[in-house]
Amino acid sequence: MNMKCKFLGGADMVGRMGMTMEGDGSTYLIEYGMSPTKPPEYPLPAPRIDYAFLTHSHLDHCGMMPRICGKNECDLFTTPLSAEISELMMYDTLKIAKAEDYPMPYTTGDIERTMKAVVPMTYGECLEIGGFDVTMLDAGHIPGAAMFQYDKEVTTIYSGDIHTEAQRLVGGAKPHDCTNLFIEGTYGGRNHPPRKQTEEMFIAKIEEVLDRGGKVLIPCFAAGRTQEIMLLLRNLGYEMWVDGMGRSVTRLFLDYPEYIRDVRHLKAAKRKFNEVRNANSRASAIKGEIIVTTGGMLDGGPVLGYLKAIKDDPKSAVLLVGYQAEDTNGRMLLEEGCVKIDGEVCRIACELQKYDFSAHADHEQIVDFIRKCDPEKVIIMHSENREAFLPDLEGDYEVFLPTTGEEFTLDM
Ligand SMILES: [Zn+2]
Ligand SMILES: [Zn+2]
Repeated sequence: MNMKCKFLGGADMVGRMGMTMEGDGSTYLIEYGMSPTKPPEYPLPAPRIDYAFLTHSHLDHCGMMPRICGKNECDLFTTPLSAEISELMMYDTLKIAKAEDYPMPYTTGDIERTMKAVVPMTYGECLEIGGFDVTMLDAGHIPGAAMFQYDKEVTTIYSGDIHTEAQRLVGGAKPHDCTNLFIEGTYGGRNHPPRKQTEEMFIAKIEEVLDRGGKVLIPCFAAGRTQEIMLLLRNLGYEMWVDGMGRSVTRLFLDYPEYIRDVRHLKAAKRKFNEVRNANSRASAIKGEIIVTTGGMLDGGPVLGYLKAIKDDPKSAVLLVGYQAEDTNGRMLLEEGCVKIDGEVCRIACELQKYDFSAHADHEQIVDFIRKCDPEKVIIMHSENREAFLPDLEGDYEVFLPTTGEEFTLDM
């Protein structure tokens, strides 16, 4: 069966994902996210959708789903955990749009209707959806993250974001035989240093900064990275604080222990961290030793308040543990040593270090995963360096690097 596929965004970039598949009288949408840049960037408008699928709760995958499921009746297939975290992200998106005076991308009513449209699925479950048997698979990226397997005449897998190695929070994704493989390529051309080595260097740096009397500020994404760092630091015995949306996400993770690799460890980590709940506890946190807080790219959230408090102290350190997209404060800090706080560019005198705690498979791991899935066609997405995969794949597979807006046909 011929299906017409089209990326509405995210084909050749890490951000604002969205793809449609059209055929057999139905239109399917996989992901509809946004790039949280200033101002935010959105995927192309979608046609009328019959069935929507969400791989996970990061903004670049879920952020614009209310535009689809809030505006017309359309089931949304995802894990219940991804649905609940996405709901937080969507309300936060409206809050930011209001604060920054951006046009509202959707209404609170759209978010409510989107949550009502959710059809919860879990790993290993198979449902008949439109003309496909759809199986949900574990993507290993963050808790609740899924790949979708579409079976009709052949098997097609859409990876979303994946990691193939175990992290502290989740286990790795497993390969599955298929004919068509849509796969992310965030780390095209780059490999991670061994995670254990990164963890040791990170902890050694924290000890060094605290020994010299500084404070450690760790800006983190709310979903996944905050908890991965909490798990890593839980037994160090320092005075540690956690602030921002990561606190609510930790509670949601604990509500769905089946998606967590070792829920006892996460419970222990939550107990070891003091939670910032109001201005008073924020004042106490800044007197403590380690602060883990959103936003991960320093573009908003409580992190800016803490940064303001320590920015002139060369004994303190900002430890970056996540991806810093272009045109964000985080990228500006890395490249120019300053950030914008309340509209003013401030120089940061603190030590700055960056660590690779990525939740994505790297180049070699992606190539290995593709080989083990043994597809005929490989479609690479979610990457700024897709060409880097060609030398490893060409000859063995038919490789597609579609651009956003380009229609292509797949036998499915
Ligand atoms: Zn992600
Ligand atoms: Zn992503």
